[in-house]
Amino acid sequence: MGIYSERTAAVNREPDRIRNGSADMRARILIIEDEPEIGELISVYLEREGLETKHVRTAELGLDALEGGEFDLVVLDINLPGMDGFEFLQTLRKESALPVIIVSARNADEDLVLGLGIGADDFVTKPFSPRVLAARVRAHLRRRFSSPENETSEIRFGPYTLDTAGNVLRRGESRVGLAPKELELLKCLTSRPGEAMTPETIYEEVWGRMYGDISTVAIHVQRLRKKIEKNTSNPRYIETIKGFGYRFNPDTLGGKSFEGGESR
Ligand code: CA
Repeated sequence: MGIYSERTAAVNREPDRIRNGSADMRARILIIEDEPEIGELISVYLEREGLETKHVRTAELGLDALEGGEFDLVVLDINLPGMDGFEFLQTLRKESALPVIIVSARNADEDLVLGLGIGADDFVTKPFSPRVLAARVRAHLRRRFSSPENETSEIRFGPYTLDTAGNVLRRGESRVGLAPKELELLKCLTSRPGEAMTPETIYEEVWGRMYGDISTVAIHVQRLRKKIEKNTSNPRYIETIKGFGYRFNPDTLGGKSFEGGESR
């Protein structure tokens, strides 16, 4: 089966990709993964999406590949022989803001990535669904290639502005430091204001998996509240719906400030 027919199949499956242009761009993805089967699996799925891939098995070869050619995104394993994924990322970030999606078997790596603040853009835990990974890659590519003029993506609530395309939360002019999953959680909740969502639904949307440690949702809600709520025991934005889940308070939308008393 040739590349042409695979691309056609991918386009038929998801018409919105034509509008977003990723089929025409032939974005190039660098996959750094030492396990050949996993690397191959990722490669096959991404190529089905009309993307070009290059698979290397070490971080050192990954750095060589980046020197030798243009890439639009990196899919990075953490456990690698020689230089590991963390060191790779730290090295890369000295020179490049290229989007990086980490794929790791260890849940604890996520905390390490966030804790170190070494600039991964996303995190997918093994065993992962290749479809979920492909969707994440597409989402990051859309952000990378979308022009700000044709994408209005600001959600205002209270004194905050959430830029969903630029992946930034601002309070007034200053940036609120959110970990990637906190940001995804906020995007998930604000995408359906007023709608109560179960932790299971949130987990599936934000973590991209159907089964796992659902309590992580409550932990991330707490972390997010600490960063955006004035009073975490009486949250204004992210409400707890007892015995059900969470809901984003729609009354806070629209950019009126509730803090400081400037709205009147
Ligand atoms: Ca590995």
